[in-house]
Amino acid sequence: MKIAKAWGRTAALAAAAATVLLGAAATTAHAQAWPNKPVTWIVPFAAGGPTDAMARDIADKVGRQIGQAIVIENAAGAGGTIGAGKAAKATPDGYTFLVGHMGYMGAAPSLYKKLSYDPVKDFDGVFRFPDTPLVLLVPKSSPYKTADALIAAAKASPGKINFGNAGVGSTSHLIAALFESRAGIQVTSISYKGAAPAMNDLVGGQVDAMFDQSNTALPQVQGGRISPIALTSLTPMPQQYPGVAPLADKALPGFEAATWYGLYAPKGVPKDVVAKLHQAYLKALADKDWTARMASQGIHLLPEAQYAPDALARHTAAEVAKWRKVAADAKIQID
Ligand code: ASP
Repeated sequence: MKIAKAWGRTAALAAAAATVLLGAAATTAHAQAWPNKPVTWIVPFAAGGPTDAMARDIADKVGRQIGQAIVIENAAGAGGTIGAGKAAKATPDGYTFLVGHMGYMGAAPSLYKKLSYDPVKDFDGVFRFPDTPLVLLVPKSSPYKTADALIAAAKASPGKINFGNAGVGSTSHLIAALFESRAGIQVTSISYKGAAPAMNDLVGGQVDAMFDQSNTALPQVQGGRISPIALTSLTPMPQQYPGVAPLADKALPGFEAATWYGLYAPKGVPKDVVAKLHQAYLKALADKDWTARMASQGIHLLPEAQYAPDALARHTAAEVAKWRKVAADAKIQID
């Protein structure tokens, strides 16, 4: 009896040790094996817009570092909240991620009464992208050559001027709403499933104005298809938009806005996957030709510490809190 008990204990200990070893082996195997198939990044807007363009560029560079293709899945609608909800429910196995931004990962909880996900509780931060300031754009034939002229016209005829945007709660919508509130005007907003279709209608003259991120606004401006009339950066961008004034200069003192982006995983993704992706991104960013190209598009590179997974998680929580006040103060509502 005694012997049997002792034996039983030894066996139990051996079994426990084997389990620990197996567990370690499984973790190592996962770390070695990942990624053994293409990885998907969900972009919750139409292809060809600023989020899509930035995500594809970064996915290409990071994909080379991890030795696997990163596939972009465009899941557009409701200002990015549909794609974000889909990503939140994905299996956290290191093969599905969300390209998130200020709208659906920062402002959405203050705007949507029912949101199918929580930007803080349902996601792990992977790394932050560089920021992108926006440009106030009008069609070539527009009578408004400056922000002041547009504001004066909107004051004279409330609701007459319409603004295209990428969806309710998208950056283009939020910044237009802040602009409206600060300028004391009323415009009509027209929502699309991304900035790309909104841009098409701006070029075609069906919408009167739009805020778009610099990386996709610039090629349209340089191609002579639209006119930039103001910037949301605090300082001018003479290389990209010569002669175009920041809104902060005259029209709206102190006004500053830029879209922030980050890569998120559904909560519970293996930590080694997050670490590998973050390291791959930092390695990619060491390519100075690439970062110079981003800067030439008006993209604003950040200090390296701000790209870290925990820095993104802290930033997200801070932005969710910030937008509760901003949205209330500016009376931004879902319309
Ligand atoms: N990021 C854009 C916005 O929120 C939308 C897009 O990328 O298409 O306005």
